[in-house]
Amino acid sequence: KRYLRKDGSAVWINLTVSLVRDCAGAPKYFISVSEDISERKQAEAKLVHLANHDALTNLPNRNLLLDRLDQALVHAHRDGRGVAVLSLDIDRFKNLNESLGYGMGDRMIVSIAARLPGVLREGGTVARFGGDEFVMVLPDLGEVEDAAAVAHKVLGVVSEPLLIDGHELCLTASIGIGFYPKDGEDGPTLLRNADTAMYRAKDAGRNVFQFYAREMNARALDRLKLENHLRRALERGEFVLHYQPQVD
Ligand code: GH3
Ligand code: MG
Repeated sequence: KRYLRKDGSAVWINLTVSLVRDCAGAPKYFISVSEDISERKQAEAKLVHLANHDALTNLPNRNLLLDRLDQALVHAHRDGRGVAVLSLDIDRFKNLNESLGYGMGDRMIVSIAARLPGVLREGGTVARFGGDEFVMVLPDLGEVEDAAAVAHKVLGVVSEPLLIDGHELCLTASIGIGFYPKDGEDGPTLLRNADTAMYRAKDAGRNVFQFYAREMNARALDRLKLENHLRRALERGEFVLHYQPQVD
């Protein structure tokens, strides 16, 4: 039971009540024991929070984001609206980490994480997927251009200088965008496609955003197939050396 103290604060108690009867078996009185289990309740709430949030930044984690994305997709399907999934990865973060140290790297991640929610409208979610990777869900959108506007704003806030221990640092990020319903009907597909688009943003020189394009899947698949074929060919000794004359 949840009881209220005089000051209005809540206290969770576990109530055990036993009925005591007399010799003839008639009910006489109750013995009731109330145990304050507030601490147990707090510990439970903390566990639920830990299961759904990233420990470093306290942002939602992959679990919670997937849940929110599913909800956003259900609503968008019902209302005929769009949903954007933004996959964001900080550019050349490894270099900074290696030159300044992991502690400093962590603080940069925390600072970036603190800026991202400010870009979202109500109902949006930003999650940390680990490392230097963040994912945002923008629900209830009208056009793909709305997603582009947010992505542009995100690039802006990420690139504002960071002041850490007297050092001024500048980061940039690359963003890939998957848009429901055009680029996928379910969460995992949209996430995968946003990721593909993010790698295209890296290829395009970084500090940009890219929309997902279908032919990207085919290209990625071709590359994977080629790599597999080459590996197998090597194992089976299928490579043959050819000499060609070079004539000037
Ligand atoms: P790219 O532009 O291609 O993304 O280059 P990058 O150097 O950022 O490469 P990538 O995203 O693959 O590497 C992410 C790096 O983030 C790898 C690792 O050094 C660092 N990293 C991963 N997790 C953490 C963390 O929890 N804390 C810190 N400080 N660094 C992390
Ligand atoms: Mg990176």
